[in-house]
Amino acid sequence: MLAKRTIIAVPFLGLLATTYFLNGAPDETKQIADGVWFREGDLKKGHCNNTIIEMKDYLIIIDANFPSGAELVIAEARKISKKPIKYVFDTHHHGDHAYGNPIWTKLGATTIGHIGVVNEMKDREPKRWLAAAMERPDVAKLNLKTAEPPQITFDKKPYEITDGKRKVEFHHLGWAHTKGDGFAWLPAEKILCTGDAVVNGAYNYTADGNIGNWPKVIEAAQKFNPTTILPGHGPYGGPEILVGQRAFLMELRKAVETAQKSGKKVEDLVTTKNGKSTATSITLPASVKNWAGDGLADQVRDTYEELKAKKPRGDLKL
Ligand SMILES: [Zn+2]
Repeated sequence: MLAKRTIIAVPFLGLLATTYFLNGAPDETKQIADGVWFREGDLKKGHCNNTIIEMKDYLIIIDANFPSGAELVIAEARKISKKPIKYVFDTHHHGDHAYGNPIWTKLGATTIGHIGVVNEMKDREPKRWLAAAMERPDVAKLNLKTAEPPQITFDKKPYEITDGKRKVEFHHLGWAHTKGDGFAWLPAEKILCTGDAVVNGAYNYTADGNIGNWPKVIEAAQKFNPTTILPGHGPYGGPEILVGQRAFLMELRKAVETAQKSGKKVEDLVTTKNGKSTATSITLPASVKNWAGDGLADQVRDTYEELKAKKPRGDLKL
């Protein structure tokens, strides 16, 4: 997710809140396995989900969150363990996953991300950082000119951390939600932290994405054969979250492509008010309704533009 549309979505969150009955609730930390905790972020604060992993001598945190989210996760981690927080993994460059980086590095942690996170920040910052600082006191308070990129990067070869007992692998499986999407994989526990390449609910943000390639990235993630999915937003669950997210993206693309081929213009599919997409005539099957919500009009527009330009949406300067 990206802060801007999260803020737009706030009036509808009262409705979404009713779906939070499975596997935790916002601002709740749950133990998933021995030494692994999942904390569901509160979308009203714009926060992402986080995972806390306890190694022999230190902790690893999945996602830096916004600065205010980072503070909450630090407080939670301190309740769990007195071990130092040594590594923080940015699953991608979006503010709700990476703008907390300076909070963690100030604590002495080292930030990690795919090289695409650094490249996305080079392309898109400081514009988004400055916009976020206008809207969010926690970002403004850091008094910085731009986002802080991850300190350790990896490219094609996965990055691994092990203490001899537990192993955590960081993988890039291609461009889905952003060019720098990273997954954290715990092979022994079969737990997969997906960032926003996989969300559990109507939280997809497609404007930086490669909608055509996205399902292939999820297929690659399915090959790990995970039993627990810790998504970027929404409650955790099993591999059915991968199945549903992949089906949603494929149904979205299919519906928009069919409409486009029948001669429909984007204006025929998406209603716009004051420059914002407010409604869409596209409907998706009931099987993917968990993922189809208030953001659908934006997602339809993004998919239409990607198909029209024959280039990933994230590469279009619209
Ligand atoms: Zn995101």
